[in-house]
Amino acid sequence: MALPQVPDYIVSSVFDLTPEKLTRMGKTLVLADLDNTLARYGEKTASAALLNWKEELEQAGIQIYIVSNSRKPTRAKRFSESFGVSFVGHSGKPGTKGFLRALKETGKNRQQALMVGDQIFTDIWGAHNAGVLAVLTQPIALDNLFRRLRYLVETPFRALCPHKEGLE
Ligand SMILES: [Mg+2]
Repeated sequence: MALPQVPDYIVSSVFDLTPEKLTRMGKTLVLADLDNTLARYGEKTASAALLNWKEELEQAGIQIYIVSNSRKPTRAKRFSESFGVSFVGHSGKPGTKGFLRALKETGKNRQQALMVGDQIFTDIWGAHNAGVLAVLTQPIALDNLFRRLRYLVETPFRALCPHKEGLE
């Protein structure tokens, strides 16, 4: 198998995960990172575009579940409530705890799920540790030096990804 840090797909944003593509792939559960994947750091509530996307997915029988590493006690909770989805906060990615909890709570198996997130060493590695398909999204904003450096460090793993042009 390829290195567990190499994403299976790269998309430009979560909106590339359309109901049609997900259904074709047999996916009924989207596990999603929060910060820089669904919203900018500090953005407290879900945008109208996100709510619209969730609605489309739900109509196709596809559920969204947030798996966030945020250590701020209310961050994931408040955002998830505004988005109308379940969540696990302080999930310990790349550990598998949060992924396993999400699968258990939703009653889905690994094959029915995919993970989307903006970071290699938490979202992608964690998804593969849990046996889940891993989709890397471009971060919404690289708005500080630390995030830009981290993005640079992740470059080789993006380069090794076999599908860089989104879901098929
Ligand atoms: Mg993130």
